[in-house]
Amino acid sequence: MPHAKHGLRLDLRTLILVLCALTAVVMLLSSYFASYRVQRQLLIDHALEANRVYAAKLAAITETSLGNALQQLAFSAQVQGRQLTDDAALQAETERVLRQSSAFNSTFMIDAKGTLRAISPASLRHLTGTPSTSPGALEALRERRTLVSTAYLSAANNLVVVLSQPIYNAQGRYLGYVGGSLYLRERNILKGLLGEHFYQDGSYLYVIDRNHRLLYHPDGERVGTLVTGNTLVDQLATLGSGTRRVVNSQGVEMLAGFANVPSAGWSVVAQQPLTATVAPMHHLILNVIGISAPLALLGSLLLWWLALVIVRPLWQLAAAARNLDRAGTAERLHRVRAWYFEAAELKRALLFGLNLLQERIGRLNHDAQTDPLTGLVNRRGLATTLAHWQAQAQPFAAIVLDVDHFKRVNDTYGHDVGDAVLRRLAELMRGACREGDVLCRTGGEEFLMLLPGASLAAASNVAERLRLSVEQTLFAPVGQLTISLGVAHWLATEHEAPSAVLKRADDALYMAKQSGRNQVFSTGAEDNSM
Ligand code: GH3
Ligand code: MG
Ligand code: MG
Repeated sequence: MPHAKHGLRLDLRTLILVLCALTAVVMLLSSYFASYRVQRQLLIDHALEANRVYAAKLAAITETSLGNALQQLAFSAQVQGRQLTDDAALQAETERVLRQSSAFNSTFMIDAKGTLRAISPASLRHLTGTPSTSPGALEALRERRTLVSTAYLSAANNLVVVLSQPIYNAQGRYLGYVGGSLYLRERNILKGLLGEHFYQDGSYLYVIDRNHRLLYHPDGERVGTLVTGNTLVDQLATLGSGTRRVVNSQGVEMLAGFANVPSAGWSVVAQQPLTATVAPMHHLILNVIGISAPLALLGSLLLWWLALVIVRPLWQLAAAARNLDRAGTAERLHRVRAWYFEAAELKRALLFGLNLLQERIGRLNHDAQTDPLTGLVNRRGLATTLAHWQAQAQPFAAIVLDVDHFKRVNDTYGHDVGDAVLRRLAELMRGACREGDVLCRTGGEEFLMLLPGASLAAASNVAERLRLSVEQTLFAPVGQLTISLGVAHWLATEHEAPSAVLKRADDALYMAKQSGRNQVFSTGAEDNSM
């Protein structure tokens, strides 16, 4: 059978190896992917929480600072309430508050009618005596309570927040208020708190009021502008404190934490870019791969070896199965180390099948070379034997015999009786020969005995003995029968075809028939005249 020696052969070993490789790759990738996802989420969660805590801390500090500033104003309101008629004293008090801390960019006192009575620093003193109409001033007059005003743009284009405390007399009459303003774009307590936080990885924070106006932003240009279309900003006032993943105005995905400054209605948002947060992941994954690659390689080698060990018996069994008809297959099958169940079963089945096959072939061979009526060798078997002996140069003697007047038996008693006679005759032949002799039915009632190693004289003796025993046997219901025999001998040294010997034996038989039947005639190889 021609074998495909080239090209990919899909054998079990290849399949198992591919399976192992696939499994290993899938396992590795999935574990890399899983650890990547888990680590990434951890980083993100940490960043979100860190931002929230940071925003909350800043919001709390801002709240405290505003509270302190309002406290200063509350004390000043008491002082100013006692000296409303003394303009110089009012002026001195505003100056004291301004200089007491760096909380305010300006401090002032406005009476109940809205007239600016005193203001510091000195650069603004020219405004004294004018009605104050800024939104912050009007809001404070209207509300008449402790107030952090809404941020607004002043006449000088400052973004301003006004902190104020009302002044009431002993009878509870409203007398005006003291105020301190924060210019959000200039140096003040707020900017000092928020402005010093700048990270290189693109993280930043911003402060926004309840009207969505930016009070602080690292990009100074944006301070004072209104933020629109930002869902997080829209929800800040109601959310209080928390975390969010958002996309900022530049389209960058950010991790944001936020918290409120309650007294002012502001929100502090600290955020950092997602990419910067998860950047260490690539390094981490590379590390993981670097560490696991040698182990994976080792594991793969182990799998490869295991696959070979598993497949080996099957491979050997398959090779044996392919060559079941060859000699030595049974020994090769026995040598296969079938160390696990399926292989052992296959081995057992193959051995069983092989035995069965050989038995069948043996029987078929036997049947093909046997005459069914007498059980003697037929012509085919004869040919096999002669070829064998010729190859082995085995000398032999041949006795050809034929029943005398057998036609009459058939004619008188029928074919079945004739057959029975032939079977009986075969038995007599068996009784006359030795082990190793080959008895053959060459035709209807013609037989041949091959006697290996026998001389012509010995064969003639055997023939004569058989002739006598047939003559003395009563074949029921036929009675007495006789046979005629011809004997010849073959010597391997004479380079003669065995068939020539049979021909000479046939000739001798013919002579026996001619000489009146019930006789033995023999002929030597050199004696061609007979
Ligand atoms: P002779 O040999 O003495 O010259 O006479 P014969 O009557 O035996 O002649 P021959 O050998 O030619 O006879 C062959 C006969 O053998 C013909 C046939 O009736 C018979 N015969 C051949 N084969 C069988 C067989 O298988 N069974 C039976 N019953 N008879 C067979
Ligand atoms: Mg005959
Ligand atoms: Mg005959």
